[in-house]
Amino acid sequence: MKVSAATRYARATLDLLLPRVCVACERQMDSHEDGLVCSLCWSRLALIPSPHCDRCGHPTEGHTCRFCATLPPFVRCARSACWVPHVVGSAIVHALKYHGWAGAARGMAARMARSHWPPDVLAERAAVIPVPLSSARERERGFNQARSLAESLAPAWRIPVWTDALVRTRSTGTQTRLTPGERSANVRDAFEVPDGSSLRCARMRMRGRHIVLVDDVLTTGATLNACAATLFAAGARTISYATFGRARASGDR
Ligand SMILES: [Zn+2]
Ligand SMILES: [Zn+2]
Repeated sequence: MKVSAATRYARATLDLLLPRVCVACERQMDSHEDGLVCSLCWSRLALIPSPHCDRCGHPTEGHTCRFCATLPPFVRCARSACWVPHVVGSAIVHALKYHGWAGAARGMAARMARSHWPPDVLAERAAVIPVPLSSARERERGFNQARSLAESLAPAWRIPVWTDALVRTRSTGTQTRLTPGERSANVRDAFEVPDGSSLRCARMRMRGRHIVLVDDVLTTGATLNACAATLFAAGARTISYATFGRARASGDR
């Protein structure tokens, strides 16, 4: 987008009065820098290298991909923009999630939109659905970071975002200290395609479709797999995952 001279002047004046700082590194931003994260931070993001596994997106060495074995059979593909934990990627996720900088989602989604997907996924993907928070958690945080990402990603892909098609039925607490097995047990049956008048509608929309689930970070995949199982049981044919950050798995370069 072309920025007019008047807009540039207004922005420079505003920067003098209220200096903007990068939400990731707290450096003062220049007037030409857009958004909430500085260009230096974006350039230092630890992007996931290519080549990577066509299905799960992990840059695994050798022929066997251990991460793929953890994905349910109805999950077609997973892509992420960068590694976490990492000094920059983690700071951006933290700013979005815990400091309420929902505006950071636009830049994050722009990086997610650059991921390379197999042609069948590009042709089939029908909608994006954000991983839901429990209503108590969303009230406390004021927003759902996955929804902010999904709402920025969907227009870039020219597909709709369905924010009412999946809900979290109970709070699952933090997964940080749990083993992969404990994480799966913790989120099992924690999601549903909502009941009532919207049930038929949500189920009808997703029947036979390829849905892309969106979240901020993919770690073991326990939460995304539980969401995917719920969508599959409700009639979706295929599910793929798009996240901003991804934790390294064993065997990654
Ligand atoms: Zn920065
Ligand atoms: Zn794989």
